[in-house]
Amino acid sequence: MTVHFPFQNSYSALPDSFFARVAPTPVAAPRLIKLNRPLAVQLGLDPDVLETPEGAEILAGKTVPAGADPIAMAYAGHQFGQFVPQLGDGRAVLLGEVIDKDGIRRDIQLKGSGPTPFSRRGDGRAALGPVLREYIVSEAMFALGIPTTRSLAAVVTGEHVIRETALPGAVLTRVASSHIRVGTFQFFAVRRDTDAIRRLADHVIARHYPELLGAERPYHALLSGVVARQADLVARWLLVGFIHGVMNTDNSSISGETIDYGPCAFMDSYNPAQVFSSIDEMGRYAYANQPRIALWNLTRLAECLLPLFSDDQEKAVAEAQDILGAFSETFSDAYQAGLRKKVGLFTERDGDDALIQDLLDAMAKNQADFTLTFRKLGDAAGDPAADDARAQFMDPGAFDEWARRWRERTALEPQTAAERQATMHAVNPMFIPRNHRVEAVIQAAVNNDDYTPFEELVKVLAKPFEDQPDYAAYADPPLPEQRVLQTFCGT
Ligand code: AMP
Ligand code: MG
Repeated sequence: MTVHFPFQNSYSALPDSFFARVAPTPVAAPRLIKLNRPLAVQLGLDPDVLETPEGAEILAGKTVPAGADPIAMAYAGHQFGQFVPQLGDGRAVLLGEVIDKDGIRRDIQLKGSGPTPFSRRGDGRAALGPVLREYIVSEAMFALGIPTTRSLAAVVTGEHVIRETALPGAVLTRVASSHIRVGTFQFFAVRRDTDAIRRLADHVIARHYPELLGAERPYHALLSGVVARQADLVARWLLVGFIHGVMNTDNSSISGETIDYGPCAFMDSYNPAQVFSSIDEMGRYAYANQPRIALWNLTRLAECLLPLFSDDQEKAVAEAQDILGAFSETFSDAYQAGLRKKVGLFTERDGDDALIQDLLDAMAKNQADFTLTFRKLGDAAGDPAADDARAQFMDPGAFDEWARRWRERTALEPQTAAERQATMHAVNPMFIPRNHRVEAVIQAAVNNDDYTPFEELVKVLAKPFEDQPDYAAYADPPLPEQRVLQTFCGT
């Protein structure tokens, strides 16, 4: 049996300035930790063959499969607001692209596969902990219905990587509709290479926005399209309590997928100012700041596209501002509509936004668990005696007062209690990748080579909207001593 990847590469056919050709660096003793079998099938790969030692060697970058054209992509980026003209894939290699079962082109990338010309001082490697974290959280996001890169496989390399201590090394196989970022455009903009910007924009339109191919002003339409997808994406993040943690322009995908799961985390108790990342000292990427930052990143993209808009700089800027102006409304429409669904409103009336904001304010004041409050509110919609939602509040009276208004409002709609509960449960997950669970999984794997907790967590998170009574404990917030206060990039 040989592993067959039906590669059809397009990015590596772009001009040489877009990437560096570089093969993954072989590792000592690859061992497959996890293969995402359904995703393998979706990509047209044979999961049984990928699970053989030969498959593991490919997924570890020890052998390069036929048809691959390995490259490290060039990009620049603003990191915490600071522009870096050259970043690029410093520890990842794009093996190639396949067309999946739905006809969508997907990148297959090895992350942690060794140094590239873009590694700067880094070793090109990834530690096992961050690899498991990305696997868990990206697949959880997928199950939550949020656009995201995905994880096809995790392998340990049999080598150590040196961080603060020596840690087991690992490689993640990441799948994305592409790895083109805002920073990819910035790479060419800072070099004043307008031909390359046009080339990249054309590639992006054909690949991610084919509906714009015949547009009268395709580059304006492209910016508009990216603005719409990013606005929608960030709204979805907020609606599940997700904090990306490192929304640099190089971690901001043009296709509108969540990308780069470094210090990301889901909040437990609701706090709009929540930050977990150890390196985000100023709270730039705090939960409630994410829409503002997405717009800031999109403004950087717009700057790159200006030369394609018009030779008249002033005109180009005005047009860009006009397009960026749509962000706020697109975001708040998506966010408010999502919130209405979360509290079980089928219609829109005056006063709804205030009703919902009052709930959020009470949750913040009472340190209510974000996920459980909404999930249990669904139970309360089904059965007025269900009181798990009020139990999330330090002062349950604050909930009672709000719930009275909520019941008056929902009574104006014809839906039955059961219908309302079912609709709410379909958008309010029971299970999210809680930090303390992710940490426990990583500890078991790194310290004891025990992947049972990892397997179980991945399994539970694949069905976030189902009650799964056997795994009820996975819905619990951390005990005070289990609380994770900080997350780390782990690079
Ligand atoms: P990140 O913080 O993962 O988004 O990475 C930011 C930049 O640093 C990217 O250009 C990465 O490729 C690079 N980088 C991160 N970790 C490493 C590493 N261990 N070795 C080389 N480059 C790295
Ligand atoms: Mg990155």
